[in-house]
Amino acid sequence: MPRYKPCGGGITARARRNSPSCAKYAVSCAAQHLVLQIGRHRVACDLPASIGMSMRESLDQYLVAEAISAGATFNDGSAVRAIEQDGAVLRVATDGLVASARYVIGADGANGVTARLAGFPSAIERGTAIEAEIMVDDSARGKYDQSALLDFAAVAGGYAWIFGKSDHLSVGVYTIDAAARRDLRPALATFLSGNEDLCKGTVMLQRGHRVPLAGDRASRVLGNVLLAGDAAALADPLTGEGISYAVASGRRAAATVLAALAAGPNMLSSYDDYLRDDLTKDLKFAGIVAGIAYRFPRFGLQLTEDHPGMQSLVAAVISGTEDYRTLAGRLISRSPKLLRYIM
Ligand SMILES: Cc1cc2nc3c(=O)[nH]c(=O)nc-3n(C[C@H](O)[C@H](O)[C@H](O)COP(=O)(O)OP(=O)(O)OC[C@H]3O[C@@H](n4cnc5c(N)ncnc54)[C@H](O)[C@@H]3O)c2cc1C
Repeated sequence: MPRYKPCGGGITARARRNSPSCAKYAVSCAAQHLVLQIGRHRVACDLPASIGMSMRESLDQYLVAEAISAGATFNDGSAVRAIEQDGAVLRVATDGLVASARYVIGADGANGVTARLAGFPSAIERGTAIEAEIMVDDSARGKYDQSALLDFAAVAGGYAWIFGKSDHLSVGVYTIDAAARRDLRPALATFLSGNEDLCKGTVMLQRGHRVPLAGDRASRVLGNVLLAGDAAALADPLTGEGISYAVASGRRAAATVLAALAAGPNMLSSYDDYLRDDLTKDLKFAGIVAGIAYRFPRFGLQLTEDHPGMQSLVAAVISGTEDYRTLAGRLISRSPKLLRYIM
């Protein structure tokens, strides 16, 4: 730490609700408005709650400092290589040491090893994103000081984004389309070359990363091992938002382990119940909205433009102050024929 993590770094109201640390973190840029576009067709709306724009190297270093001040020991640069059960104890071998524990929480992301080493079945894979960090001139960067842009023409089954950061722009493409996700570089290159500000900029860094979505794993508890965050596959299928679900699952996993230390391992199953029935329950409806929005993006944008109520609802869901259930219900009531495409 600090280390680069490909991520838009958008901190929604949902993430701030789910973690006091995310709520306290001081962002240098925050989007107050959202621009939704398909080519030249643009719809701008105000966000009811800002989306804080972070760089993950800085946010994650802050979270690590919070954990250390709460009593955690942090072994930086020491990768987990093996996990073995030894009676009631788990032995976790890293590059530098072997730690013994009664419970282990794997919060090692989409490319982590805990799930595999602990014997969890492989997760389904549906989401992928690629991001470029781009230096642009001040006037181009200034356009995104308070505004986030999402473009639904850039890729099948997803969108491209432009997020303003303190000294540059983070630009990326996200998709759940099986064919498009094989290689997102052409979609990103076309998006960059079609934007006059971006094509004059300098790409400092470009990286792709998987986005493990809610529904991609059946269970996140096996023996005395729990998975949290991307390792547990919890991200939003419509937007790819994962920070709020990572921090919430991490906190609940820790609380579950404390309960298990006090009352025994049978407490662990409550963690799966929480993830399924509480944390990601609304994301079933995000899947329905994604099915509609990515199949009929022009219809979705037109509906958003024509109905101010729909505009504020979309802005509220994306900023994290409203749930997907309401949005899915509103979409289907506007056009009941949509039901046949999502069942
Ligand atoms: C391009 C892109 C853009 C995104 N934009 C957003 C956004 O704007 N907002 C949002 O909310 N979400 C976004 N997401 C999703 C978000 O990045 C993830 O959901 C989130 O980072 C999950 O956090 P995590 O802590 O579970 O995993 P990670 O952030 O991946 O952290 C896992 C950590 O574990 C470490 N690790 C891995 N293997 C080992 C090992 N063997 N031993 C020890 N440590 C290990 C890694 O080095 C890493 O530090 C985006 C994702 C992508 C790919």
